[in-house]
Amino acid sequence: MRIFADKVALVTGGTSGIGRATALAFAREGANVVVVGRREDEGAESVALIEQAGGKGLFVRADVSVEEEVASMVARAVEVFGGLHFAFNNAGVFLPPAPMTEISAEAIDRILAVNVRGVALCMKHEIPAIMKSGGGGIVNTASFLGIRAFPGSAIYNASKFAVIGLTKSAAVEFASQGVRVNAVCPGVIDTPMNEEMRAEESGRDFLNGLQPMKRTGRPEEIAAAVLYLCSPGAGFTTGTTLSVDGGISV
Ligand code: NAP
Repeated sequence: MRIFADKVALVTGGTSGIGRATALAFAREGANVVVVGRREDEGAESVALIEQAGGKGLFVRADVSVEEEVASMVARAVEVFGGLHFAFNNAGVFLPPAPMTEISAEAIDRILAVNVRGVALCMKHEIPAIMKSGGGGIVNTASFLGIRAFPGSAIYNASKFAVIGLTKSAAVEFASQGVRVNAVCPGVIDTPMNEEMRAEESGRDFLNGLQPMKRTGRPEEIAAAVLYLCSPGAGFTTGTTLSVDGGISV
């Protein structure tokens, strides 16, 4: 019996990278999966991959920083699949490293709008739907940069520290109401987010060298952690941050 059979999982940022790998992993374990993002072609591609793996997928176009779109994304999931049990709030943006003294106000607003307001709005609308469906769990994507600082990443650092704060607050607020809330903290993972840097040998060497394991991670290695946090085996786990980072945060 697959562990998420008859369950509904929603994945933001499911149009590529870590989100797509996690959407597929949920589908392979039997969940009906709602893939959320702004790019329609990539969303359709994620759904096609889910269907090829024998699962059921639905793409919902939404910008997580816009409340009406987040509300309709949850409503659509419930309308099509009959409920919501798990949400992986993973949509996020990164800006190339820059000194704090040179960051534009627009860049600050954009990062915080997606990485912080996006996660807060998603939880605001997902939690009632999860409670109505009989309980379940949420995993938010933070980062090793939500645990330690790195020169040039101030605003991204702040946004991911905030994701951990939101996760812990929601965890204690809903712990007795059947909703577990945890965060996953990836190290450097091979996704479109850093593919330009990985295209150059010097960039690859730099990124590999950051992790004590001397390699970057695969999206599937994050997906496995997310599925664990949503599984019955993690039934007593809430408010935790699970680092999957080759040791970079240690
Ligand atoms: P990615 O392939 O670039 O994925 C980012 C995802 O976020 C895309 O699917 C994108 O979809 C979605 N997104 C961005 N802005 C959005 C918005 N306003 N509304 C809805 N969706 C939005 O990169 P990734 O590495 O898989 O990133 C996933 C998460 O992991 C992010 O939160 C990132 O900060 C975090 N992370 C990544 C690494 C790494 O090394 N790759 C390390 C630590 C943490 P659309 O473009 O279709 O909207």
